[in-house]
Amino acid sequence: MQWLDARDSDTLMIRHRVVNSVHKERSAYQEIEVIDTVDFGRMLLLDGIIQTSVRDEFIYHEMLAHVPLFVHPNPKRVLIIGGGDGGTLRETLKHPSVEEVHLVEIDERVIDASRKYLPELSGGFDDPRAKVVIRDGIEYVAEVKGAYDVILIDAPDPEGAAVGLFSTDFYANARDALGDDGVLAAQTESPFIDPKLVKEIYDRIWAQFPLCRLYTAHVPSYSVGIWSFALALKRPEMFERYRRAGGEFKTRYYNSEIHAAAFALPEYILELLGDKARA
Ligand code: SAM
Repeated sequence: MQWLDARDSDTLMIRHRVVNSVHKERSAYQEIEVIDTVDFGRMLLLDGIIQTSVRDEFIYHEMLAHVPLFVHPNPKRVLIIGGGDGGTLRETLKHPSVEEVHLVEIDERVIDASRKYLPELSGGFDDPRAKVVIRDGIEYVAEVKGAYDVILIDAPDPEGAAVGLFSTDFYANARDALGDDGVLAAQTESPFIDPKLVKEIYDRIWAQFPLCRLYTAHVPSYSVGIWSFALALKRPEMFERYRRAGGEFKTRYYNSEIHAAAFALPEYILELLGDKARA
């Protein structure tokens, strides 16, 4: 009997019954693995850490993409940093206003593996509006000014090449890569398992934007479930004026009620984030 010991931290592991090992390789950056599991179906792992599963990926990808894309009044140009599995790209391309999506991924082999083994997620790579740039996202955002309406940071945990995707300089450069109505969203880890890290990331983003709000979703394959995202705005008044989704396209998790509810935080997270989270 084969099991995946999915490490959450140095002190917590969750075991998944594996049906089949589909693919394994070592790229220049990381070990890439695709496996089939009983409860979550096909999974993508990087260095042994779960990135996504076909069973629950819609929750994470819809919440990372649609919350900021419905806050921006007319998103046309979108930048995705990381996101090599294609799930965030797929959701972004559902917005009819979106004319161009640039996806900057450091490891081409993640995209190749996803195209081959995770077709449910990676179909967007064939869309003519999608342009893939194989490059370090940290360098890329440092060179772009005022070019994007929305930036989505679809990073793995802050380890290896991804550490800088959670840095103050990176968030400042991302702000400058946005236009005047710019909106940024980032995955910001688990506030239950890694409260100190979530607070650090939140403070770093807040320091670069006039408004930053944390929102959450339950993603069963991640850690102990509760996952956080940050939404940062150059124009704070846009926060309340999100466009209400009205059946423009199909979603399985996101809707207008979930959009509003996701920003309602439990007391233990509000306490962690401090006064500015309550204002
Ligand atoms: N949803 C996932 C999660 O939170 O577990 C992350 C999705 S995606 C697979 C993350 C991608 O970011 C990986 O494919 C990785 O290669 C890429 N990545 C890591 N560091 C990067 C960097 N500095 N620039 C661009 N992409 C990077």
